[in-house]
Amino acid sequence: MGLFNRLGREVEQFKQTASDAAEENKGPQCPACDAALPADFLDDLPADCPECGTTLEPADDGESND
Ligand SMILES: [Zn+2]
Repeated sequence: MGLFNRLGREVEQFKQTASDAAEENKGPQCPACDAALPADFLDDLPADCPECGTTLEPADDGESND
């Protein structure tokens, strides 16, 4: 039983580490395939993901007053 508990804890730790690493990568990411996108990719939307071809739309935060 103890072994399972220890493994579970190590998996949680790994998840935490992976999550931290992901947050350190500040570059944009394709929501469809998780490909890393060039930092200036989001400046020129809509544009197609170079990896999967999904068209990425500008984020709509609902605050545009036009
Ligand atoms: Zn993609």
